[in-house]
Amino acid sequence: MSDFDIAAYIGDVPDFPKPGVTFKDITPLLSDPEAFGRAVDALVASAPEDIDVVCGMEARGFIVGAPVALALGARFVPVRKSGKLPRDTVETTYDLEYGTQTLAVHTDAISQGDRVLIVDDVLATGGTVAATADLIHRLGGSLVAVSVLMELAFLEPRDLLLRRDIDQVTALV
Ligand code: IMP
Repeated sequence: MSDFDIAAYIGDVPDFPKPGVTFKDITPLLSDPEAFGRAVDALVASAPEDIDVVCGMEARGFIVGAPVALALGARFVPVRKSGKLPRDTVETTYDLEYGTQTLAVHTDAISQGDRVLIVDDVLATGGTVAATADLIHRLGGSLVAVSVLMELAFLEPRDLLLRRDIDQVTALV
């Protein structure tokens, strides 16, 4: 694994989705089965023992989280934007740079005492992870760790996460 440079498979797209923002594009990683497999292996290796549930957030968290869940023998739970899940949900609304976003999860997806791992592609401000943590806690789950492909450290997401007592965070890059 030491010769594997995951950053080489994540592109920088300037001025997307708007001027001044540099978007981290994981599609080169997804299009290389060996590199994607190694990234998934590294996320799996970062996971604590006895994970019951992997939560992945819409939409790239689905792509990265589902293979991690399968490898861990854990349930995969999609965390979706409001209005997408067909059965009873709990929802939480959080601030984006402009406006707000609401995330939802099925109420029966997580049970009291479940050990939960959050997996996503990019950790930016940490708002999405913090909102997902809120949903997990409201259903009685225990968030034991967060694993992402890439952290945008200049946005200081760990400050926000530490204020929510989320301190087990692994970023491959
Ligand atoms: P946060 O809530 O600010 O931490 O943003 C993280 C969420 O936005 C994740 O679900 C990411 O998929 C998405 N995201 C933010 N910035 C990027 C990026 O540069 N590339 C890909 N996804 C991003």
